[in-house]
Amino acid sequence: MTAATADRQALHDFVARHTRLLLTTHVNPDGDGLGSEVAMALWLRSLGKQVRVLNDSLVPAAFTFLTRRVPIETFEPDAAERAFDEADALIVLDVSNRQRIGRLAAVLERHLVPIAVVDHHVTHAQGFGAVNVIEPEASATGEIVYGLIRESGRELDPDIAEALYVALMTDTGSFRFSNTDSHAHHMAADLLTHGLDPQRIHALVHAHASAARLRFFGEVLAALELRDDGRIVVLDAAPEQFRKHGLVGADTEGLVDMPRNIAEVEAVVLFSEAEPGKVKVSMRSTGRIAVDRLAASLGGGGHPHAAGVSLRGPRADARGRILPELSRLVAALPRPPEPRP
Ligand code: 5GP
Ligand code: MN
Repeated sequence: MTAATADRQALHDFVARHTRLLLTTHVNPDGDGLGSEVAMALWLRSLGKQVRVLNDSLVPAAFTFLTRRVPIETFEPDAAERAFDEADALIVLDVSNRQRIGRLAAVLERHLVPIAVVDHHVTHAQGFGAVNVIEPEASATGEIVYGLIRESGRELDPDIAEALYVALMTDTGSFRFSNTDSHAHHMAADLLTHGLDPQRIHALVHAHASAARLRFFGEVLAALELRDDGRIVVLDAAPEQFRKHGLVGADTEGLVDMPRNIAEVEAVVLFSEAEPGKVKVSMRSTGRIAVDRLAASLGGGGHPHAAGVSLRGPRADARGRILPELSRLVAALPRPPEPRP
């Protein structure tokens, strides 16, 4: 057993005080949100708790394999009401902003359940729980859940290890983003001793490309714009393009990460309008500028090197709000030395 911080100890005490726990994560859940839920649910069950997992949004096809032992329910008004009636506490994972749990936020207004938040985002670092374990230095929320499980003295079983690996692998971009540190690799090494096959998990998560999705990516990438001397890449996806290929907003997953490897690029931004008038802005930094404050200033959030915000109105308006600010951030960077002739 390792020593817990005061916040983590408060979470252990919170768990000890409650018996019927409801878990949730942010809207449009990713591998970290879902993997953290599944690992947390299996751990809580091993402690004799009743656990239910309920999210605003559907589990994307890439992650349905995680629901083998832990069913994940999608919001439906009556069922949500009952789930909150039954629960004596709520644990919120991978998000510390109340609005980002989607339709569960309104249900929460009517049910005075105690809340614990476990997250690694910095933008709402105070959290909205009675207990808040918020560790921005963690590569993934799954890394915090892993720490909690180890502190409790419980063994990891293969399913917990798999769920935690999915959380870590997806949030670190398969161990290549700037949040990949020795903690992340130590954790991965330990998870691998529990019999999981990293190649298989990677394939399960990533082998979901459809021909339609690749054609859509191809179309959007073919039209990429370079700005600010090639230091900013802009991608744009219009409602007609989603319609033409039969895709939804979640199908852009991974698209904004692709141009990061163009030489000299400091930032990539994708303006994605799957539903007319609703623009999802996804920003990525290759490491030198921080994009989370810009996202937060418009009501979004994220991490220094990966952040997003949803804006109402046409894409041109969204561009007008984002691009000048992004240019300012990039302009403030020291120029890399000119290559010698
Ligand atoms: P993505 O661009 O992949 O959707 O999101 C990148 C990061 O930004 C994720 O960590 C995600 O939690 C955060 N993020 C994306 N969109 C929003 C948003 O609308 N609000 C907040 N608070 N965070 C967001
Ligand atoms: Mn995360």
